[in-house]
Amino acid sequence: MGLYSSSAGQVLEICRGLLDRGFLKSTEGNVSVRIPGRHEFAITPTSYSYADMVPEDVCVLDFDLHAISGSKKASIESSMHAAVYRHRPDVNVVIHTHQPYASALGLMGKPIPALFDEQVRYLGRGVQIIGYGPSGTSLLRRKVEAKVTNGDNAFILASHGALVMGGDSERALFNVFLLEKCSLAYLLTLMAGDDGAKVARIPLPVREVAFSRLRSDEKELERLATEALPVEPLARTDHVSSVAAGLAPTPPPLADQRYAISTYPDVDAVYRQLHALVRQPLRPVRRDVMADYLDYFNTKCHRSKELSDEAKEFIPGGVQHNLAFNYPFPIAIDRAEGAYMWDVDGNEYIDLLQAGGPTVLGSNYAPVQQQVIALLESSGPVTGLFHEYELKLAELLNRLVPSVEMFRMFGSGTESVMAAIRAARASTKKRYVIKNGGAYHGWSDQMVYGLHVPGTRRFESKGIPRGATQNTCEVYPNSVLALRRKLVENRLRGGTAAVIVEPVGPESGTRPVALDYNQRVRELCDEFGALLIFDEVVTGFRLGMGSAQGYFGVKPDLTVFGKCVTGGYPMAGGVGGRADLVRTFAAGIGGAGERAYVGGTLSANPLSCAAGYFALLEMERTNAPVLAGRAGDRLTAGLKAIIARYGLPFVAYNQGSIVHLETSGAMLLDLRMPIRLARELKPRTKMMEEMGAAYMANGLVTLAGSRLYTSMADTDDVIDDALGRFERVLSSVEPR
Ligand code: PLP
Repeated sequence: MGLYSSSAGQVLEICRGLLDRGFLKSTEGNVSVRIPGRHEFAITPTSYSYADMVPEDVCVLDFDLHAISGSKKASIESSMHAAVYRHRPDVNVVIHTHQPYASALGLMGKPIPALFDEQVRYLGRGVQIIGYGPSGTSLLRRKVEAKVTNGDNAFILASHGALVMGGDSERALFNVFLLEKCSLAYLLTLMAGDDGAKVARIPLPVREVAFSRLRSDEKELERLATEALPVEPLARTDHVSSVAAGLAPTPPPLADQRYAISTYPDVDAVYRQLHALVRQPLRPVRRDVMADYLDYFNTKCHRSKELSDEAKEFIPGGVQHNLAFNYPFPIAIDRAEGAYMWDVDGNEYIDLLQAGGPTVLGSNYAPVQQQVIALLESSGPVTGLFHEYELKLAELLNRLVPSVEMFRMFGSGTESVMAAIRAARASTKKRYVIKNGGAYHGWSDQMVYGLHVPGTRRFESKGIPRGATQNTCEVYPNSVLALRRKLVENRLRGGTAAVIVEPVGPESGTRPVALDYNQRVRELCDEFGALLIFDEVVTGFRLGMGSAQGYFGVKPDLTVFGKCVTGGYPMAGGVGGRADLVRTFAAGIGGAGERAYVGGTLSANPLSCAAGYFALLEMERTNAPVLAGRAGDRLTAGLKAIIARYGLPFVAYNQGSIVHLETSGAMLLDLRMPIRLARELKPRTKMMEEMGAAYMANGLVTLAGSRLYTSMADTDDVIDDALGRFERVLSSVEPR
């Protein structure tokens, strides 16, 4: 073998990579690599068990198909491989597999159009179909020759699966997997659209192969995703068992507790429960009971109904805020205080929305309100000039969160994320920003990408030019491996300026991350020279005065604040972090070096700064984050006990005062389960909405029926009252 052993080894390695993914079975494809600098290539033998292959089995041929080495008979598709090498000097690896989704598209005569950026970048503008020619014939070779010269790296071979190529083995394998992804995506698109009927006309045997593969892949991908979750190093099983018995774990003494999370959730267990929930049929509230709950809105909420009907004429959708509870219509709130809200019809609610997170002290907390009123009486809300409270707030943040060497305030979390990314690009001179799939980082053009459902990229990007998102990447949450892969990929094409994460996981930990995830992201950022941005819009000060970074013990380069930074008062946003980075925002004439341009007429107005300053001082004085966290623990323990008592598949867990109650599993669907996603997203979202209405009719305001924020105002009595109401709803779900 000598001269050819390295190429033979490469062929073997590629075959193993394919076998691991279930791609290559005996008689189901062939693999070759070009011998560097020669008109020769190494190729798999014909009809052979690739799993048993040794380097000596690999055949070496020249481009005229003369055998150079190897004892076996070379693949009957050798002439097709030779044709590719002749016409494509850029190609060094050729892979032919009988990938069933591509076969189905070949049979339908549907070349794959450009579906997503990654596809275009690596496979070409579209995936063309090479017309049918029997295996190993010169007819097939000629048809391949006629197409491959277009420079694309993937083709569908009519009735033969796929032909994929790359400059090296890693890229060729990547292209095979990418082609599978886009074949699948296109097939699903066709099924959902007018072509759905045509899918049904694919001959049964092909459909069977393609769709049974799809089903088994779904399970396999789920398994891989679950196994990919790192084992939580600090599993505290005593927490799990005591909670199962319906008792809150014994917390440490209050004075010793600095963070709201008394016990980090057992992330593995949470995912197992969530996956089990998604595998089960829906268990909505019984129809007769739901009808009663909906009747509540008709009989007890007249004024809200009138207002919301009128609002529809002047406000799109009749409501200004995404978090406002909308089903069956928005409830108009008149008064809020502490743990309670009252609507315009006089109905009282326990407030587990807490405005989506900013009011850890409880709503409308009087000591802060008084300071705000005093400020309004002296300077009014805005002057446009410097105010001492700007300094006081920045100094306070610097004391509370040590990574905040300097702080620049903005009008919202959205603006602050934009600014942080701009600073990261300005200082690193790199191109890409990586976020976790499903995460919400505000609604700026570049961040409306992979929103809510991981893997969905531009699904929500109506009105956003492609260019705005082309430097944003998403990776599956909680996967350090996926992040590393993306960082490697980006290194070749302009580098990663920043990785932005919510430290508890996307959507306030709806997809929780392992306890050591943030530390590992930090290490990856350091390895690849990317900045680490923590989006602490929700977690900042809610998880403790040192914020999530204090709890996890990880220092980001930049931190995005929002919500709590103004204690629930308007214009909540800001970026803090390394002085050299935050200085890029330097306003006026004070700027030096690179400047990342930012602004905002009302940003850092005296009202917002004073409100934030006094709210944070009060939170520190009262240990509000810890008290709110304890309320979250009590609520979660109670919810778990209810779930266990009624034998429900629902899942409750919390990160301190952020409590998750998953009843429909809608938030857990993703593109790794494409069929389930297409089939179940709507009904599961509908159920979530209904649960929100059911809770509301029982006097509980929640965030979209699945998330609950607690505050310092949630005494044990409030939580126990809330649990009684939750039990009313949860005990009336449809039987299995
Ligand atoms: N980042 C996270 C994690 C958020 O939860 C939000 C809002 O909920 C934002 C950013 C955007 O903040 P804002 O609504 O202030 O623009």
